[in-house]
Amino acid sequence: MRPEAVEAMLAMLENGFGNPSGSHRMARAARRAVDDARDVMAETLGCHPGEIVFTSGGTEADNQAIVGTLARRPGAHPVCTAIEHPAVLVPVQRAGGRIVPAGRTGQVDLAALAAALDSSVAVVSVMLANNEVGVVQPLAEVADVVAAHSPDAVLHTDAVQAFPWLDVAGTCARAGLVSVSAHKFGGPKGIGALVVRDGVGIEPLLRGGGQERDRRSGTQNVAGIVGMAAAARVTVEERKATVERVAALRDRLADGLLAAVPGTIESGVSDVGPDRSHKIAGSCHLCFEGVEAESLLFLLDQEDVCASAASSCASGAAEPSHVLAAMGIDPALGSLRLSLGWSTTDDEVDHALAVVPVAVERARGSR
Ligand code: PLP
Repeated sequence: MRPEAVEAMLAMLENGFGNPSGSHRMARAARRAVDDARDVMAETLGCHPGEIVFTSGGTEADNQAIVGTLARRPGAHPVCTAIEHPAVLVPVQRAGGRIVPAGRTGQVDLAALAAALDSSVAVVSVMLANNEVGVVQPLAEVADVVAAHSPDAVLHTDAVQAFPWLDVAGTCARAGLVSVSAHKFGGPKGIGALVVRDGVGIEPLLRGGGQERDRRSGTQNVAGIVGMAAAARVTVEERKATVERVAALRDRLADGLLAAVPGTIESGVSDVGPDRSHKIAGSCHLCFEGVEAESLLFLLDQEDVCASAASSCASGAAEPSHVLAAMGIDPALGSLRLSLGWSTTDDEVDHALAVVPVAVERARGSR
């Protein structure tokens, strides 16, 4: 976590016991802390404070966006891409929605998107950056396609992975609903937000005491909210410098592994170059011939490299990745997702460059 977030949370945990919905002095202090955090989140997300709805994280924000819009238009359809996080994909599938393919580079097929849209569509969900391969979607073009073919539909974007790297406020300006989650940008786990722009109608998932202007009932997680805002503020302040520094580290890592390990394919890049211009800076995703991802992860864990194969959802690495399948990547290849963040150092990249090639060789030998 960002130290600023830890410090802000500790102060709230020690001295911020009040319930922001109460009326006494302690409650009002908690309310002020939540309001200040809401202002920060609104500024970093490019919306009004009243358009922020605090949630328990990215999953709730995504579910709220899909289920909440459909509840306002019974019988209408949701649409999303085949590479969405399950927090979007599963609710869309359960509602009988339409799934739009992505091409080899992981970007949504805009012609297929247009073909999936009509007046029966209530919500279109296209993530800003993918969690497995780090590919960034052309959200402005997506917004044009939605406006042209389903003018009454709401555009939702899952910006959970994008926030540390991209100007979400600018890039998502045309999305009516935007999801973020604090633990992807140095904040705590279990807290996130959904931007619900004024005029966008959604039914709440959680009903009760009417908190968050009746859009999300339940006593707010005050320390989590304050920690998220502290992390968001420093992330945005340092974003440009972090992106430059981490992109250089990521390029060194990816180029080094591509050179050191024959039979390696980098996902989500065009074959020439490789061109990583439409990937977030912290993402290095490689596929190795003749390797089982699980054995590779086990060997890397022993060398203090904490990596994953696909996403880090509860299912672990055992299930094939729907994202790689959607991109047409051979499921027989062993995939490795190395994520870099604001705290990643040169030495850590050196360490990965030293141990990953050896681990791949060993994993190949053990097959
Ligand atoms: N969306 C994306 C793109 C994610 O990467 C994640 C988490 O990994 C989520 C949604 C879910 O967020 P949370 O873990 O906060 O529920």
